[in-house]
Amino acid sequence: MDFALELSLFVGFFYLCVNQTLRVKSDHQLVIYNSLSGKKENFVPLHEDHVGMYVCGPTLYSEPHMGNMRTFINFDFIYRCLLYLGYKVKYVRNITDAGHITNSAGQEVDSIGSAARSAQVQSLEIVYTYNVKFQELQRVYNLLPPSIEPTATAHIQEQIEVIEQIIENGFAYVVNGSVYFDVKTYMQQHNYGALSGRKVDELEQETRTLNAQDEKRFFADFALWKKAGDDDMQIWRSPWGNGNPGWHIECTAMSTKYLGKHFDIHGGGMDLKFPHHEDEIAQSCSSLGCTPAKYWMHANMLNVNGQKMSKSLGNFFLPKEIIAGETALFKKAYSADVIRFFMMQAHYRSTLDFTEDALNAAEKGYERLMESLSLLENVSCNDSSSLEVKKLVDSFYSAMNDDFNAPILIANLFEAVKQINLLTEGKITCTIQDKEELKNQLGGFIFNVLGLQGNTTNSDGKLNPVMDLVLDLRQEARSKKDWSTSDKIRDGLAAAGIVVKDGKEGTTWG
Ligand code: AMP
Ligand code: ZN
Repeated sequence: MDFALELSLFVGFFYLCVNQTLRVKSDHQLVIYNSLSGKKENFVPLHEDHVGMYVCGPTLYSEPHMGNMRTFINFDFIYRCLLYLGYKVKYVRNITDAGHITNSAGQEVDSIGSAARSAQVQSLEIVYTYNVKFQELQRVYNLLPPSIEPTATAHIQEQIEVIEQIIENGFAYVVNGSVYFDVKTYMQQHNYGALSGRKVDELEQETRTLNAQDEKRFFADFALWKKAGDDDMQIWRSPWGNGNPGWHIECTAMSTKYLGKHFDIHGGGMDLKFPHHEDEIAQSCSSLGCTPAKYWMHANMLNVNGQKMSKSLGNFFLPKEIIAGETALFKKAYSADVIRFFMMQAHYRSTLDFTEDALNAAEKGYERLMESLSLLENVSCNDSSSLEVKKLVDSFYSAMNDDFNAPILIANLFEAVKQINLLTEGKITCTIQDKEELKNQLGGFIFNVLGLQGNTTNSDGKLNPVMDLVLDLRQEARSKKDWSTSDKIRDGLAAAGIVVKDGKEGTTWG
């Protein structure tokens, strides 16, 4: 890492601290693309200055991959923008740790249970193991913690109560200890498919037909509660007998418990639109009489060679593998900050291809952006200014307020970088006030809004002896084949933004 970059990272960290205390106002109207209407709409919160936002969290049967992280990073960015605009945000993101999940083919799978059975441990041991990793990833990628992170297993009673209400209102039926949502009855009064645009008759052609063993009355009906099977490891008592909840009901129970029956924003990955979110809408309309959220937001997929990164396709990368440079796809390691910057270069509604060229370009751009902060620091000031700070800052806000357009925001930040270069070359001048204003605004958008950290500083070399000691301890653990300690040290350093790499020439870090 060269000295200018190291200095800029330190300057960045300083900005971050200063800007934490700033409350920024904007004259621009925030516009959000609402997946429910298929249009961009002015954002008008249900309660002035307050925003309630629910985002579907991970199913912790395995370690979240980079694709999962893209969705969580995107919603972290959206959360940060709302905070930066001065809203008081209650951000609820659940953890799925129970129940049957319906996959897009309409089959119910108990992913946590099967992971627990094959590891011969209890279900919550699986969830707990991966939740520790997920929380660590949030620190590494600089995700702000949500206001509440509720788990499905801690809300079984609430789920049972919603199901009881749906049955009482005539939209669900009980068969042999299971409860199913009655899509045909629902369709008589509501538009099933309002969010996803899926038509039931078209769906029927994609789905296998029901056979005599099926309990459901109609192929599109979905489980609200499943009678316990012989293999099930997570079983609760209910008015319908022992069993476990369907997947969609947990989000209805937890979002409405913490945000009320109608709240501002509901988000998740694009692949959750159907059936998960469509079924959440059906559950809310049939139990509470209204759709849960005013604005539905869907983040698009991280792809590999044009295909969605996913566990089932086997084309996934774990975030820690990328930080450690241990993937077959890339020749080198990339820091969490560079990866976050790479993700921010695409709009949240666009797909993004995970390629080495794109990551290398992102790394260069990131370094240029960070360097410009230290260049600005050293600019000498004048009595007159040809710097158009207000115009630049306006362009930052207008990009952010146009449906959280991070790539345009970054392009506009680079307009500021151009101006800083001109200042450095003495081709334009600025006053001390303009310089300070630009510094604060750039710092605010780079660190608070985009969520970059810029904190891997070692400019005075003070870290070197500390790192020698830590790497010695790690080497000692490795020679004793104590992999858990050695991984713990590596992951802990990664959390602090330091990448450790083992190569032929020994262990390096940076
Ligand atoms: P899961 O743990 O499977 O419930 O997924 C957690 C979140 O990650 C959901 O919002 C998914 O939509 C999202 N997700 C899954 N795969 C990808 C991907 N390749 N790119 C972006 N988001 C994804
Ligand atoms: Zn959900």
